[in-house]
Amino acid sequence: MKYCSTRDSAHLVTDAQAIVSGLAPDGGLYVPTDIPALTLADIKSLCACSYAERAADIMARFLPSFTYAELLGFAQRAYAGDKFPPLAAPVVPLSDTAHILELFHGPTCAFKDFALQMLPYLLTSSMRKTGVTDRVCILVATSGDTGKAALCGFADVAGASICVFYPDGGVSNMQRLQMVTQSGKNVMVCAINGNFDDTQNAVKRIFADTSFAASLKARDVRLSSANSINWGRLVPQIAYYVSGYCELINQGVVTPGDAINACVPTGNFGDILAAWFAKRMGLPLKTLICASNSNNVLTDFLETGMYDRNRPFHYTTSPSMDILISSNLERLLYLLSGSDTEVAGYMAQLASDARYTVSPALFDAIRKDFACGFCGDAEAASTIAATFREGYLPDTHTAVALNVYEAYKKRTGDLTQTLVVSTASPFKFPASVLKALGQPVAGGDFQVLDRLSAIAGQPVPLQLDELRNKRERFSDTVPPEVIRIAVDRFVNAQLEGNA
Ligand SMILES: *Cc1c(COP(=O)(O)O)cnc(C)c1O
Repeated sequence: MKYCSTRDSAHLVTDAQAIVSGLAPDGGLYVPTDIPALTLADIKSLCACSYAERAADIMARFLPSFTYAELLGFAQRAYAGDKFPPLAAPVVPLSDTAHILELFHGPTCAFKDFALQMLPYLLTSSMRKTGVTDRVCILVATSGDTGKAALCGFADVAGASICVFYPDGGVSNMQRLQMVTQSGKNVMVCAINGNFDDTQNAVKRIFADTSFAASLKARDVRLSSANSINWGRLVPQIAYYVSGYCELINQGVVTPGDAINACVPTGNFGDILAAWFAKRMGLPLKTLICASNSNNVLTDFLETGMYDRNRPFHYTTSPSMDILISSNLERLLYLLSGSDTEVAGYMAQLASDARYTVSPALFDAIRKDFACGFCGDAEAASTIAATFREGYLPDTHTAVALNVYEAYKKRTGDLTQTLVVSTASPFKFPASVLKALGQPVAGGDFQVLDRLSAIAGQPVPLQLDELRNKRERFSDTVPPEVIRIAVDRFVNAQLEGNA
């Protein structure tokens, strides 16, 4: 199995090369040339396995440069007992048809841990396999969740360093605390005077700066990104859908072979695309329900076939889904159309006109696999309150999925058992959740957390609770123009530290 660019199917690389490169040289994303099969017998045998074994099995099918034993070693460390509970992705029954796939028990309380705990192993090992001996410096521009998950994944990984930039005042104080208290000798966190766009553009400029790349190269250092378009971030996510199905079998909810649906709170289309890969492999998934907040560009696309990013951007209570360009959709367009020129055309239109309309044939193919819906903040808040009355407290992102799922079920009468993906702990967005429960939100962050804990009758997750006593290690705020200097100094300090 090879990987090719979505914009040039003749551009072929190995799995390891795809992971080292991130993006293809033509701006396309890497996709596998074949989709490996997963039989019912395979699924049954995975039912008795640990999460790490399930993850290694699924990843091994997509990563021929790696042995199962190697991947199992990675998975055992990535999903180790000091980071995840024994069952890393538990399934909790909610109603007659809905089952919550909880993906928030990792070190940062959000689902991105599943990919970002694994990526450092895949990346550093892919570098070795492709003969790259440089030290890698990961640069991340974050609006909150990704930065902390990437820091946690790369902290103290040999041969790697990581710099995270966030907009000053543009992340929640809890998210800021999660980042600036990060331990590790190879990490740096820095605030930028500006908003998220300024931060992201500053980081993009460093990536495009060839003189800086040359100066790093002279020091045997190369830059890389932990962005969600890297195949190494997508492939670990396929595993938790298979694991979720195994859990439903183990709980007696389905018998092997029964079809289920999955409803996924979606932003960049990475999480739900992983479900689509699981379906294509042979996991009995029927309908993939794409849930959006009021940034409903995907709902409109899945209903009309026209992707139109030309619309107002909304700041919502589910900020990790506040996205108007869902990058991973490009992979689906390629895999369902099979045409690199068609995809390259859509992406060129998106760049020039901010919109494109897919062909009727492609739209039909997409409609076979996906349903969709969206809800606003008020509806999500009602869903949090209603779900809590039934005994389960979802976060704001999960609430969007639950709301869209209920509407889907009502509209279609589809009573198929459904995994509703829960992407974050309610304690990660405590003010919005408390407000949704009709409670006053007053005092500092930890007072809000404690209040939510009392109302929910659940302890604050240790990962958040321990922030109270952690020392803030990073306090710099710099203008966007000088982040190259900041990275340069950091790289030199890292090289000295490792000399
Ligand atoms: C990133 C994120 C999402 C969106 O996931 P995509 O893969 O970008 O679609 C949803 N919920 C939470 C909590 C997230 O952090």
